[in-house]
Amino acid sequence: MKTIAQLDPDSAADLVQWLKKDEVPCETKVIPGEGGLEDCEILVSETDFDRACDVAEKWDAARLAEKVKKSTRKCDNCGSKNLEPVPHETLETVLRCKDCDTLMPVT
Ligand SMILES: [Zn+2]
Repeated sequence: MKTIAQLDPDSAADLVQWLKKDEVPCETKVIPGEGGLEDCEILVSETDFDRACDVAEKWDAARLAEKVKKSTRKCDNCGSKNLEPVPHETLETVLRCKDCDTLMPVT
């Protein structure tokens, strides 16, 4: 088995649902996390690893898009709320303003 993600239990449960939907068999293991909290490790078999990573990426993107939608973040340049997350080569992800094309960090 290989670990595809280590998350808080709520996020892990959510990702497990996505994996089930895509018929990727997985196991979860509760491990001690930071500050006395529990983390959840998601494991899949070697053969399903690539597929599981694809699902995890899609899930992560959807989660981020949801977070951006709910946030009151505005464009640094023009004040537009019309922002979308885009992959970036140095920062993990940035927000792009759909109105003026300004890029800014997510947080
Ligand atoms: Zn803008």
